[in-house]
Parts: sequence; structure tokens; C-alpha cells
Amino acid sequence: MRRMLDVLVIGGGNAALCAALMAREAGASVGLLEAAPREWRGGNSMHVRNLRCMHDAPQDVLVDAYPEEEFWQDLLKVTGGLTDEALARLVIRASATCRPWMRRHGVRFQPSLSGALHTARTNAFFMGGGKALVNAYYRSAEALGVDIRYDTPVDRLELADGRFVAAVSNGQRFEARACVLAAGGFESNREWLREAWGRNERGEWPADNFLIRGTRFNTGTLLKFMLDAGADPVGDATQAHMVAIDARAPLYDGGICTRIDCVSLGVVVNRDGERFYDEGEDFWPKRYAIWGRLVAQQPGQVAYSVIDAKAIGRFMPPVFDGTRADTLPALARALGLDAGRFMQTMTAYNAACRPGSFDHTALDDCATAGLVPAKTHWARPIDTPPFFVYAVRPGVTFTYLGLKTDAGAAVRFGGRPSANLFVAGEMMAGNVLGKGYTAGVGMSIGTAFGRIAGTQAAAAARGVQRAAA
Ligand SMILES: Cc1cc2nc3c(=O)[nH]c(=O)nc-3n(C[C@H](O)[C@H](O)[C@H](O)COP(=O)(O)OP(=O)(O)OC[C@H]3O[C@@H](n4cnc5c(N)ncnc54)[C@H](O)[C@@H]3O)c2cc1C
Repeated sequence: MRRMLDVLVIGGGNAALCAALMAREAGASVGLLEAAPREWRGGNSMHVRNLRCMHDAPQDVLVDAYPEEEFWQDLLKVTGGLTDEALARLVIRASATCRPWMRRHGVRFQPSLSGALHTARTNAFFMGGGKALVNAYYRSAEALGVDIRYDTPVDRLELADGRFVAAVSNGQRFEARACVLAAGGFESNREWLREAWGRNERGEWPADNFLIRGTRFNTGTLLKFMLDAGADPVGDATQAHMVAIDARAPLYDGGICTRIDCVSLGVVVNRDGERFYDEGEDFWPKRYAIWGRLVAQQPGQVAYSVIDAKAIGRFMPPVFDGTRADTLPALARALGLDAGRFMQTMTAYNAACRPGSFDHTALDDCATAGLVPAKTHWARPIDTPPFFVYAVRPGVTFTYLGLKTDAGAAVRFGGRPSANLFVAGEMMAGNVLGKGYTAGVGMSIGTAFGRIAGTQAAAAARGVQRAAA
């Protein structure tokens, strides 16, 4: 790597690669430091499937229209207003125009898969998934001359009065005129998760039962360093994208195939055999990311998603088979649940289901009456054998605590934007996502801000060069 680069990008996922490509296209010399070895490069981005895109009319793989206002309202609803409207709208508008640029760098799209979460209108799917996307970006970056170092976890930065000077990895210094931080959240730092979630009223440490859906390399080392160095924070350390995933998933990198997507088609009970939330509150893409958190609040951080034969074929099948039984009491016994309490819950639920016209593609009129908590859509009795159940645990996708930024992607210290230090992706997603999630918006944020950060860093580097000349 050159002794003095124009732009140093730290991280090796979608946001980092977008930044590196944009900076290089703007004429900057660019280096990229990825903590992972080459075979595990790409961070959480290697697990993704799609990008949420605004469009005013049908566009190649996207059907109908998904206008800015609808995207914004979706985001407003899931975040409960915990979002920065200006930055959110910037992301939304950028999502309308980024795909031709992505294609130029080798990314290919395909229509929504059947069984995927009602997304044919809103989300463009990557052919070959996130792995193909990051491979395409790495190929393009290499071809353009980006200097890529694997196995290079940055442990600290040298800063001077809010300006980037150098990054340090295992004692090796990397100097640059400008820098983009795109090193992910802290979801793989189990001690930090434990500290953030603390101990609950039952004396449990909930985070000890969390599984991490993506990379083990997002340990938040740089995020912690930056917060300690006085960078302005955004978000709350317990807020995260958290999904209910198969309790048998590995601790890291289980990816998409361990997600349990049948929640809205059945009921979910906790270890005590009790329901605890409306399984049919809204379309699954707008709700799947709250279920990890809901399960985290249950005793033992475990829950059970129960369906009957009617649900089969209506959701993306997970990688492991569910537990199967011909009767509900047999299902309870197979799970080791109190069969009496479980049957009370199931009987009450079945009796509360009012007749309606079941339609899983709409917010239908199948709802319970007089039941707490209610199931407000897609409520049908669970009465048709065979029955299936999946034990689920909280699966952390990515954390939302990050660095505050602005439309120029600058890191801020005491409200003042740094002149040459920028941030993108999970490290700043909390500016747009205070809580909640809507499928595909992680990639919309990372792509928009990665591209802005790369452009700004290249411009900042030119400014530094001019000032020195
Ligand atoms: C299973 C799964 C499925 C998902 N599906 C989707 C989807 O379909 N659509 C969507 O929009 N979002 C999805 N997401 C979320 C999405 O992955 C993130 O929003 C997005 O990838 C974030 O990109 P990023 O570049 O900020 O982070 P990452 O892709 O995680 O990249 C962070 C990078 O930083 C590196 N790094 C970490 N620490 C250091 C350090 N100290 N020094 C150097 N490098 C470091 C890591 O090795 C990694 O390469 C999914 C996530 C998971 C886990």
C-alpha cells in the first residue's frame, strides 16, 4: 500500500465497497482494510438478498410503483418516528437511481422469489445473493486498482482535532488524506451486547442466549474507539435488527436460511405455553424484525412458532425441519412444554378465530375476537394435522448504535463535521433507523451513504492535496 493514500476505507462489506468504488471513480488512490480473511470477506453484506427501491412506475425486476411517499411512510411507521427525515428521504431518493451504477460494477438483479416476503413491488433481489454482490464489487475494485488488504482489523485511529491522520492495525500504520469508516455494528461483540442488555427481572442475562445471524468480524472495535474519542453518537445500544431464528442455528453466519417465516401463519407461545404478541399485526416484511426482540423479552429467551398443515407451502421453508406431530398435545410433549397450559392457549385461540376470507397477500379480515393478545389478520384455527413447531431464539442481524452524521456522511465531533472522516453503512444506520426495520432498507442506507462517503472522501483528499500544494 502507498505510504500516503488519498482515501482509506475501513471495512469490507457493501458500504465500504461502494465508498471505495466511488472514491476510485473520482480519481482518488484508494486502499481498503478488511478485518476478515479473503474467504470470509464481505461482512453481513454477503448474506443479503435484496435492496428496497423507490420507483414511480414498473422498473425491470420491480412491479407496479413504490413512490417516495409510501417508502417514507413505511419507514416512519416501523421506526415510530425515530428517524431523521432529511437523511431518510436522501436514502429513499438514492435508491431510485443506484441500480444502473451497481450493474456497471457487475451486480445482477432478479425478480422477487416466490415465498419471499411480499416483496415483488418494493425490493430488487440480487442474483446469487449478497455473496455474488460482494464478489462483483471486489472484482471491480481490483480491476480499478483499489489496494485491498485482508486480515487487517483496525484497532485504532490517529486523529488530530477531529481530522483523520492514520489507521493502525496490529502496530502497522496506514496514512491517508481522507478516510471512510464502514466497519459494521457491534453485534458480534458478545460482551458489549451483554453489557447493553444487562440483567432482567428474572436474573437472566438475555444476551447470553442471542445468536448472531451474520459475520463474526463486526466486533465494534472502531465504533467504541470513535465514541471514546468524542464522536457524536446516535441511537441506543439495545436497539438492533433482531429476528426470531431457528434455535438450532450456529452462533455466527447462519444467514438467511435459519429465519423462521411462518409466524404470521400460526401462533407463537413462550416457554410457559402463553402467547405474547399479535402474530398478524402487519405484513411480515414490516414485522419480522421485531420478533427477535419480543423473544428476547420472554423467559429463557426462547419461543415456539406453531403452525398446522394449512400453512405449508405459504412461507420460505427454513433449512432445518420443524418438529412434527399429529396432535397438539403430542407437539407440546415433544417440546417439553406443559401440555395443559399449552392446550389452554391453543383452545382459547382456536375458539376466538372469527370466520373471514383468508388472504395472506392482503391485510385480510381473519381476526380473533375477545382474545388477549389479539391476532388481527390471518387468524385461522390451528386444527389440521400434521402440526409443526419451530423453537426460536433472538437472532441479531445488526446493531443500531452508531455515529451521528449528515447529508455529507461526515463524522461529527461536538456538532462539527470532520473535514476528512466519513461514515457509512451499519456504523451510521441508526441515523435513519432509530428502531424497527423494513426489509431491504439496510442495503438502501449502506449503498446511498457508501457512495456519498466515497465521493466526499475523494473530494476531501483533493482539498488536502490542494492545501498542501
Ligand atoms: C443474514 C442477513 C441477511 C440480511 N439480509 C438483508 C437484505 O436482504 N437486505 C438488506 O437491505 N439488508 C440485509 N441485511 C442487513 C445488511 O447486511 C446490512 O444492512 C449491510 O450489509 C451493512 O453493510 P455494511 O457494509 O455497513 O456492513 P458489513 O457488510 O457487515 O461490513 C462490515 C465490514 O467491516 C469489517 N470490519 C469490522 N470491524 C473491522 C475493523 N476493526 N477493521 C477492519 N474491518 C472491520 C467486517 O469484516 C466487514 O467486512 C442482512 C443481514 C444479515 C446478517
